[in-house]
Amino acid sequence: MTDYPLEPDRRAMDEMGRRALALIADFVDGLPDAPAAKVHDIGPRLPEYLLPPGEGPGNLGDLFDRFGEAAAVAVETAGPRYMAYVGGGGLFTSALAEMVSRAFNRYTTLSSFAPALVALEESVLRWLCRQFGLPETAGGVTTTGGSLATLVAVVAARHDRLGDDFAGGTLYVTAHTHRCVAKAARLAGLPPAAVRTVPTTPDLRMDPEAAAEMISRDRARGLRPFLLVASAGTTSTGAVDPIWELAQLAQSERLWHHVDAAYGGFFQLTERGRARFDGIEHADSVVLDPHKGLFLPHGTGILLVRSPAAVRAAHAVDGAYLQDLDGDRPLPDYAELGPELTRDYRGLRIWLPLHLHGVSTFRHALDEKLDLAAWAYRELSADPALELPWEPDLSIVPFRLRGDDSADEDNQRLLERIHATKRLYLSSTRIDGRQLLRLCIISHRTHRPDVEDAVAIIRAAVASGVPAA
Ligand SMILES: *Cc1c(COP(=O)(O)O)cnc(C)c1O
Repeated sequence: MTDYPLEPDRRAMDEMGRRALALIADFVDGLPDAPAAKVHDIGPRLPEYLLPPGEGPGNLGDLFDRFGEAAAVAVETAGPRYMAYVGGGGLFTSALAEMVSRAFNRYTTLSSFAPALVALEESVLRWLCRQFGLPETAGGVTTTGGSLATLVAVVAARHDRLGDDFAGGTLYVTAHTHRCVAKAARLAGLPPAAVRTVPTTPDLRMDPEAAAEMISRDRARGLRPFLLVASAGTTSTGAVDPIWELAQLAQSERLWHHVDAAYGGFFQLTERGRARFDGIEHADSVVLDPHKGLFLPHGTGILLVRSPAAVRAAHAVDGAYLQDLDGDRPLPDYAELGPELTRDYRGLRIWLPLHLHGVSTFRHALDEKLDLAAWAYRELSADPALELPWEPDLSIVPFRLRGDDSADEDNQRLLERIHATKRLYLSSTRIDGRQLLRLCIISHRTHRPDVEDAVAIIRAAVASGVPAA
């Protein structure tokens, strides 16, 4: 021990690191057999979890033990049979990168403080811009997730198309667009009525003709349409809007065209995904979530923008304390491209896994998810008790018990029976007022045997719900 306990010496660091890695490795090793969820009432132990820190030092082993015990009371979002919502699993190599990056604690929101590290982060963002066919002048910024990236996009769109007086501004979504768009609009100062819900076709895609009509009617009423949002994979069903048609419409109406690809975006690395997202190269902005489709641990979203200048203009303020930092810069200051100033360096946790594993490893993993979803769709469709209204565009398979509209409670009970097995975790959604369950296959740990298990568990749960004759 040194005289300065906040600065452990070499031996202490080695020992702490060893303990941390052992904790992690035990956890990851246990994932294949871990229960899909172990959430119970922590009420009786809540006072213990809420204990304040003591004046004197604690013991690292004890503290890690307490963390491990607390972390075990959870839905196993890192496990292979977590197929609820959208969960990418969390790459070990990204977590490792994060530990290293945190220890270096470089300041990268202003590029002059660590220009080469900013360049590494920029290399990922520019590579992604090229993957999506955006021009050389496009750029991006990493955020904590898709919601914050969407907020930056909506603020940029509002400022770029409406200026500072944005009264009467309207934006266009569907009933299946992620709620983060409406939330972003609200935070951007727009009233709830500004969010206009365009009807969808029976396959749950935005109807471009209905959108065109709504926009022109709104204009005639004196409203100011400024933003058209397409989903490259909705969260409920993975449906992909007709991006190319919507891009044409946005262009002819001079609307900012935003594509929410938070769930589906990284399927662009696959041939099938690229075909589905035809037209995305015309987008003004695209939101991606590496903590979904690139399997990173929670906490990384990305905004790609055709015009970084528009984002910069929307977020510009004067700050005398930043005056030393003006001048020509070949690299962006990420502080200008969003609401955050001081923040973590987000480059290494994306850059390292991409370089270490290689792009083709990610491409194959994503192709595997598409194959698994197609397989699950075929298998579940073969069960006469189940109804699968939509073939998956990507890796989400929605299904429900066959029956009339009164069967919502039956579907809810089916979900409860599935969860009672503790071997699979799914989630439900509502489409056109009807309850559906959904299987979302997007974890790097989910492979064929896991999906075979999932299908068997679902079929057994369906069969056990059939009343005995
Ligand atoms: C997850 C998701 C979001 C929100 O992203 P967060 O990272 O959870 O903030 C937005 N849109 C879609 C389609 C999503 O799946």
